[in-house]
Amino acid sequence: MKLPERYCQEMRELLGKEYGAYLASFDQEPASGLRVNRRKLSPEEFSGITNFHLRKVPWIDNGFYYEGAVSAARHPHYYAGLYYIQEPSAMTPASRLPVEPGDRVLDLCAAPGGKATELGARLAGRGFLLANDISASRAGALLKNLELAGIPNLFVTSEDPARLADKYPQAFDKILVDAPCSGEGMFRRDGRMASYWENSGPETYTRVQEELLEQAYRMLRPGGRMLYSTCTFSVAENEKQILRLLEKHPDLSPEDAVPGFHGFEPGLLGLKEAVRIYPHRMEGEGHFLMLLKKEGEICRSGRPAGKTDGICSFRELPEAAKEFLGHVKKDFSEMNFRIQKDQLYCLLPGMEVRSGIRYLRTGLLAGTVRKQRFEPYQALAMALGMDEFDSVLDFSSEDPRTVKYLKGETISVGAEDTPTERGAGWQLVCTDGFPLGFGKMAGQNLKNKYHPGWRWQ
Ligand code: SAM
Repeated sequence: MKLPERYCQEMRELLGKEYGAYLASFDQEPASGLRVNRRKLSPEEFSGITNFHLRKVPWIDNGFYYEGAVSAARHPHYYAGLYYIQEPSAMTPASRLPVEPGDRVLDLCAAPGGKATELGARLAGRGFLLANDISASRAGALLKNLELAGIPNLFVTSEDPARLADKYPQAFDKILVDAPCSGEGMFRRDGRMASYWENSGPETYTRVQEELLEQAYRMLRPGGRMLYSTCTFSVAENEKQILRLLEKHPDLSPEDAVPGFHGFEPGLLGLKEAVRIYPHRMEGEGHFLMLLKKEGEICRSGRPAGKTDGICSFRELPEAAKEFLGHVKKDFSEMNFRIQKDQLYCLLPGMEVRSGIRYLRTGLLAGTVRKQRFEPYQALAMALGMDEFDSVLDFSSEDPRTVKYLKGETISVGAEDTPTERGAGWQLVCTDGFPLGFGKMAGQNLKNKYHPGWRWQ
């Protein structure tokens, strides 16, 4: 690969005597990684059921390097949302933003969801995640990945950050700003980025990065934390952005990204708490991250939740929706519901919909209610555990019917496939104990209700 001459000069100055080792890293294959979705299972449980050969990413507690006979994107466990395929260094930012269950979390530049899926899983179904991306098409991919991961407490938006900040001032406990950047850390993985750099190097991105940080600051609550990350080495896009922000807002201060790791390099220009990741020092690509805290105490009760139009309780739902949700073993009494254009959304307490925002999702889309009929939606299946639906069909990931189901085909079901008291109607179709989607029995056949847009290709 040909690296731009001006870039090489800058890296020579940045790395000094390590420059040779950095160049030599281009001769090594970039590592493939997957991150286990804690929302569904623990890393230990996944190790127990997968036939991939896994090796732990040493600084990520649910991250693995993997090798397998089939691609990780063509395995039923992928379709069950058990993991996200992610470059190991890119797992670092979400792992170092200290998200706790119950937090209100914003991922400002979230598509396609590599970090948002981990932030959402860390919430363990409490609080909420708002995942935003200014690009509507990329936000579509983000939505799919979050729904596949089974995150129920989500908002997905495609909004300009300044507008979002007008609507959500000081609203979030934790914010991730994974900014668009010149991508220098990804040159080994994607040689095209090196050629783009000639025309759109660091100077192309600094304005938007500054703006993103400023808007994130406006949305951060006192006592909250925000993490800025890029996949570039440029000081102008990294440390200089942070120093400018710290100078403008003295109530922000740097924090260590805990736990540290011996391969992490400290930031430059005196920002020792920042983390630089270099491909010649660790088994991953280049990254930068910096965790910041806003002075003050997080007030858990926050300001009173605003009123969201059209909210109703479980009792007030149409009969067909109540009948279907009666098969779901969850306590809906605490939940709010909202029907918008036939679509039924579940909102956890504390989740409010604000007007004037381009939402792609406002909570968990449970299904559609039309002409007194309820059709469950794919996201509901993904948000359930196998034991949370009263009629289940569980196929081994090696059973050919699993892939047939994922391809949208009708499959036949015999008496031996009845692990639970199976009724005649809706079934939650699972593989190795994890939901894939819904189906409906018709005689000995299962009518396939797998989301057509998600089918196995
Ligand atoms: N966090 C993502 C992940 O882990 O999958 C990757 C994010 S990528 C580095 C940067 C994203 O920022 C792109 O998806 C891009 O569309 C988005 N973006 C660019 N300008 C933006 C802006 N002004 N506001 C919000 N998002 C923006």
